[in-house]
Amino acid sequence: MVAREGKICSFCATPGSRDLQLVGGLGAQVCETCIDDFHALLHDPEKRAASKGAFPWEAMSDAEVLATLPQIMASAEQNNAFAHEWVDLLRERNISWAEIGRTLGVSRQAAWERFARKGGDKSETA
Ligand SMILES: [Zn+2]
Repeated sequence: MVAREGKICSFCATPGSRDLQLVGGLGAQVCETCIDDFHALLHDPEKRAASKGAFPWEAMSDAEVLATLPQIMASAEQNNAFAHEWVDLLRERNISWAEIGRTLGVSRQAAWERFARKGGDKSETA
């Protein structure tokens, strides 16, 4: 496991640190605590039966639902930043904007407008 300081757990929004490892893929991160909690839930028949069909927010107060919104936005921003890092990786590999756009189902121009870094990758023609 690798410490991913500056990243948050996509499930509980706790920042990763030397004391709290995060692992992830496709931009999502998960902390050791959430892994343990989800593992326990999945492998305890009573907990699993109790959680079946219930969404976590059904037991949350309005204040808790409201307090969760910034965490959802932080997770979304983290994923969006990862998509930009991934496009940077593709560009470093000389993958063209046309190919990136084709993969996303958008035009070369649309891909460039969404992902080109201001003051960075301005090679729109490639
Ligand atoms: Zn977590």
